[in-house]
Amino acid sequence: MNNRYGVIAESRNTTVMGEYDVVVLGGGPSGIAAAAAAGRSGRSTILIERYGFLGGSGTAACISDFCGLHANVHGEHRQVVHGIADEIQDRLQKMGGLKEPHLSLRSMIKAQVYDLSAYKIALDELLLGSGVKILFHAMAAGVHMETDRQIGALFIESKSGRAAIRGRIFIDCSGDGDIAAWSGAPFEYGDGLGNTLYPSMKFRINNVDPVRAKDGRNLLPRLMEEAEARGRKFPRKGALMRAQINPIEWVANATLVKNPDGTAVDGTNVEQLSYGEVEGRRQCWEVFEFIKSVTPGFENAYIVDIAAQLGIRQTRRIKGEYMLTEADILGCADFDDSIGVNGWPVEAHTATGVIIKFANVPHSRGFNQLPYRMILPQRVENLLVAGRCASMTHEGQSSARVSGPCLVMGQAAGSAADISLKAGVWPRSIDVAKLQERLEHDGAFLGRQYETIT
Ligand SMILES: Cc1cc2nc3c(=O)[nH]c(=O)nc-3n(C[C@H](O)[C@H](O)[C@H](O)COP(=O)(O)OP(=O)(O)OC[C@H]3O[C@@H](n4cnc5c(N)ncnc54)[C@H](O)[C@@H]3O)c2cc1C
Repeated sequence: MNNRYGVIAESRNTTVMGEYDVVVLGGGPSGIAAAAAAGRSGRSTILIERYGFLGGSGTAACISDFCGLHANVHGEHRQVVHGIADEIQDRLQKMGGLKEPHLSLRSMIKAQVYDLSAYKIALDELLLGSGVKILFHAMAAGVHMETDRQIGALFIESKSGRAAIRGRIFIDCSGDGDIAAWSGAPFEYGDGLGNTLYPSMKFRINNVDPVRAKDGRNLLPRLMEEAEARGRKFPRKGALMRAQINPIEWVANATLVKNPDGTAVDGTNVEQLSYGEVEGRRQCWEVFEFIKSVTPGFENAYIVDIAAQLGIRQTRRIKGEYMLTEADILGCADFDDSIGVNGWPVEAHTATGVIIKFANVPHSRGFNQLPYRMILPQRVENLLVAGRCASMTHEGQSSARVSGPCLVMGQAAGSAADISLKAGVWPRSIDVAKLQERLEHDGAFLGRQYETIT
């Protein structure tokens, strides 16, 4: 809020709520994997999350699809993200909460539908089983710096008031690089022109007639195009809908939320976010009325749920020791300090539509390695940053922001935190070979036994 005079906040003695070896902020795919990896290596670990459930955008924004677990390896669809990802899949499978992988993006790659409620419970159990303390309903709001390069504590605000959580290593999995920004680690925002990838509001549809709706997914974009030719306007080109595990339920990704001036809603600006939530829900209703009126099988359908929050694809991206680029994605890059791989293409949500760029499949191996240096921020010593706010260019992030690579980065960050504490050195100085050995021992695939063929 612009206030001409500002308000002087009284200085307060803040209660210390706890002290942990590893403090993880954010319960999305990167935070879950980071906390699980740190917790099961015997480190006292806390995960702080502003909502009352885990999953991050994967649940709060109604994503319901794992992208980036698979790659198109010389024309063969293979799962290339392993480790904690496998355990999540196993838990979902046992709950009947995971579909077989399906072809996506013009059949070039596979993705996999999961049940949103099963996912929340599977993640609770994964973290509790890894010895992690979960703190829900706690919004991180700042840091206390021990020195100008070392974080001492994270401040949280909750119904219990303000508190400080002390830690030895902090892992920022907030998606927005909150800890990185507060502690003075350099970051970039958007495409250099002030615009990020555009957000979307997803919604769930129920009471669909599964037989009559069989072709709904392919039919809808065509029906929308025809309506546009007659002068109707939609918020987004290329609307997507997909049947869920129970085929009476579908999830739609059919909105694109802009500010009134046409720029992308900024996920770090509370006033733009407030505008975006209202506008996103309005778009859901508008698009759904069209879907219901023209798509066979949807005549008696209704919106059972609009996502709890606007889906934010990109905000801050830290400038770490290495920034993953579009050339790395398209060229299937190798890195000596690989912590895992990413096979998802560049998927850029722009003002005018979605731009997809694949590596040269099937002639290339279809995935790039992810370097440890992309989760190492500059300047701040006891911080790792994993997930969609890790060190990537705008274009690189348009690819490696999806669940698969976020799980990879998170698992590596949690393991690196333990190795760093054990060795008594900062994360940037650990023996990376030890980290790679640990990750492979824990089931991760680092992409090392493939030749790069482009
Ligand atoms: C509309 C949309 C569709 C998408 N579709 C897919 C898809 O089909 N498949 C796929 O794999 N990916 C998809 N993605 C991308 C993917 O969901 C995210 O990029 C991924 O979840 C990022 O993981 P993350 O762990 O980095 O962050 P997030 O999932 O964003 O999690 C961050 C977590 O941190 C918490 N948090 C943030 N700040 C604070 C704070 N200050 N205090 C406390 N808690 C905080 C948040 O509540 C959240 O739970 C989509 C994204 C969007 C927006």
